[in-house]
Amino acid sequence: MKCDPNLYRAAPPSLAVKPRLIRHLFLPPLIIVLMIGLGYAGFWTSEHFGIRSLSESGQRQLELHARTVESEISKYTYLPSLLELETSVPQLLADPTPEHRQTVNAYLEGLNRRSRSRAIYVMDTTGRVMATSNWRDVDSYLGEDLSFRAYFQKAVRGEPGRFYGIGSTSGEPGYYLAHGLEEHGKIIGVAVVKVRLEALEERWQRARLEAFVSDENGIIILSSDPARRLKSVVPLSDETKEKLARSLQYYWFPLNELQPLARETLAEGVEKLTFPANSELSTDDDSISYLAQTRPLSDTPWNFTLLTPLQDLRREAINQGILVSVAFALVAFLLIAWNERRKVIATRLAAREALQEANNQLERRITERTTDLRASNERLKSQIRERRQAEETLRRAQDELVQAGKLAAIGQMSTSIAHELNQPLAAMRTLSGNTIRFLERGQLDIASTNLKTINDLIDRMGRITASLRSFARRGDDKGQASLGKAVEAALQLLGARVDSMALQLHRQFIDVQVQIDQTRLEQILVNLIGNALDAMQAQPSPQLWLEGEEFNGKYRLRVRDNGHGVDAEARKHLFEPFFTTKPGEQGLGLGLTLSASLAAATGGHLGVEHPASGGTTFVLSLPLVSPIPAEPI
Ligand code: ADP
Repeated sequence: MKCDPNLYRAAPPSLAVKPRLIRHLFLPPLIIVLMIGLGYAGFWTSEHFGIRSLSESGQRQLELHARTVESEISKYTYLPSLLELETSVPQLLADPTPEHRQTVNAYLEGLNRRSRSRAIYVMDTTGRVMATSNWRDVDSYLGEDLSFRAYFQKAVRGEPGRFYGIGSTSGEPGYYLAHGLEEHGKIIGVAVVKVRLEALEERWQRARLEAFVSDENGIIILSSDPARRLKSVVPLSDETKEKLARSLQYYWFPLNELQPLARETLAEGVEKLTFPANSELSTDDDSISYLAQTRPLSDTPWNFTLLTPLQDLRREAINQGILVSVAFALVAFLLIAWNERRKVIATRLAAREALQEANNQLERRITERTTDLRASNERLKSQIRERRQAEETLRRAQDELVQAGKLAAIGQMSTSIAHELNQPLAAMRTLSGNTIRFLERGQLDIASTNLKTINDLIDRMGRITASLRSFARRGDDKGQASLGKAVEAALQLLGARVDSMALQLHRQFIDVQVQIDQTRLEQILVNLIGNALDAMQAQPSPQLWLEGEEFNGKYRLRVRDNGHGVDAEARKHLFEPFFTTKPGEQGLGLGLTLSASLAAATGGHLGVEHPASGGTTFVLSLPLVSPIPAEPI
C-alpha cells in the first residue's frame, strides 16, 4: 500500500527547528529567572506583611513594657518631696549640728530601707551633702560636694531634677531624683533619691525580652543586653562627648556609638536594625536583625526601645519564597507537560487525519483502478473470444487447406496411381486369360500359381487404394503415430516412383511413438520424400537418408537427399505457400507450408538445412509420447 507522500510532508526543517531551538535555549533560563524573581517577591511580601503584623503586636508589647518602666520610675517621684514634711530636715539645714545630722541620717536610713531605693540624701544650697542614708558606709556621700551634678543645679532652681548617671563616689549607675526643699517659699536645700533600675533589666532578661532605655543624651542607660549599655544610639559630636565627660555623668565610660550593620526606617518610631550577632544570641547567622520600636517615656526625656528579633520571621519569609519558587516551578512544569501533551495529541490527530485522507484517496484509486481493470478484463475476455473464434476459423481453414493439399497431392499422384493400378490390372488380364487356358488344358498347377499371383496383385492394389483413402481422410491435432508405419505408408504411396528410379534408401531411425495424427505424419513424410524424389530426378545414383535421434523429449527425423539442392533465392521462400519451382501442374507450392503447420500444431517443428556436400535435409521434430528407454549397455 502506497500512501501519498505529500500528505506526510513535514514542515521545512528551518521553520520546524527554529521555534523548538528557541524554546529549548530560552525557556529554562526564563523559568529559572522567574523562579528567582517570584521567590524573591514571595520572600519580600511575606517579610513585609510579617513585619507589619509584628510591629502591630510589638506596639502593644512596647506600650506594656514602657508603662512598666514609667511606673517603676514614677514610683519614687514623690519620695524626695516627702522630706519637706520631716521637720528634722529643715532643722538640719538651718542648724547643721551633729545631733541634727544624726537624726536626719537615721531617718533617711530608715526611709531608704523601706522604699528600697539605693540612697537618699540631703544637700544644702551649696551642694554639700548634709545627711545621707548611707552615712554608715565607707563610701558615704556625707560631706561631699555634688554641686556639679545637673540634678542639683536644676533642683536648687526649683525645677525637678531627673538624672541618670554613674555615682562619682561609688561608680555605681543609678537614677537620681532631686527636689528643691522649700521653706517659706525659699529653697533651703535639695533632697535626692538614688534609685537602681537594674531590676527592670533583670526582668527583661528573664522574660527574654530585648529592650533598652536611652536618655536625653541618646545614651543607653538600661539594656537587656549588657553589651549595649552606655552606648549612644545617636552619633555624638566630640564637643558633646567632652561636655559629658566633664559632667562625669557617665563616669569615664567611652560612650561609643551603638552602630548597627544596617538601619532602615520603616515608620515613625519603627526601624529595622541589623546588629552583628553576639555570642549569646547568635544562631548560625553572623548578623541579627531586629524590629526596633521606640516610644518616649512620660515624665522623662527618655525613650524606651523594644527590639523584636526578625530571624524567625526572616526564616519564615525565606521558606515562603522557596515555596513560591517551587510552586511556580511545579506550575511551569505542569504547563510545559500539558503543552507538550497537547502538541503530541494534535500531531497524532493530524497524522490520523492524514492517514484517513490517504486511505480515502487509496480507496478512491482502488475503486477507479478496479473499474478500469474490470473494463480491461471485459475487453480482454472479448478479445480472447474473438481470438478463439479466429483460431477456430483458422483451424477450419487450415483443415480445409490440408484437405485441399491432400487432394492436390492425390491429383498430382493420379497419373502414377493410374499407372500403378493399370500395371497389375494388365498383368491380371493376361494372367487370368492364361489361367483359363491352363484350366482348360488341365494344367491346374500353373493355373493355381497364376491365381496366387493374381491374388498378390489384388492385395497390392488394395493396399494402394487403402493408403490413398487413409491419406485423403481428415485427421486432427491429437492422437499418436508410429514413425515406422508412417514411413512405410509414405513409401507405399510413392512406391512406383521409388521403384522407377532405383533409389538407395538408408534407414537410420527407430520406430517411436510421436504425438501427431498418423495420417498427418504420413502426409508430411509423403511431401518430404516426394520432394526429395523430385530433386533427385536427374541424379544417376539417387540416395535418401532417413536418420532419427532423440532430442529434448522430441524425436528428430532428418530426411536427406543428394538431389540438386535449393538455390540461394529459393531458400528465402521455401515455406511460403504456393512457392514452387516445379513446372506446370507438377507443383502447387503447398507441401512444405502444410507440413510445417501440421508439425507446429502438435508442438513440433519443420526446418531445413543445406549441407555443404550438396542435396537438402529437412529436419522434422515431433514430441515423443514417452521417452525412449536407454539401451542397455
Ligand atoms: P511443390 O512440391 O508443389 O513445388 P513444395 O512446397 O512441396 O511445393 O515445395 C516447394 C519447392 O521447394 C519446390 O518447388 C522445390 O523447388 C523446393 N524443394 C522442396 N523439396 C526439395 C528438395 N528435397 N530438394 C530441392 N528442392 C526442394
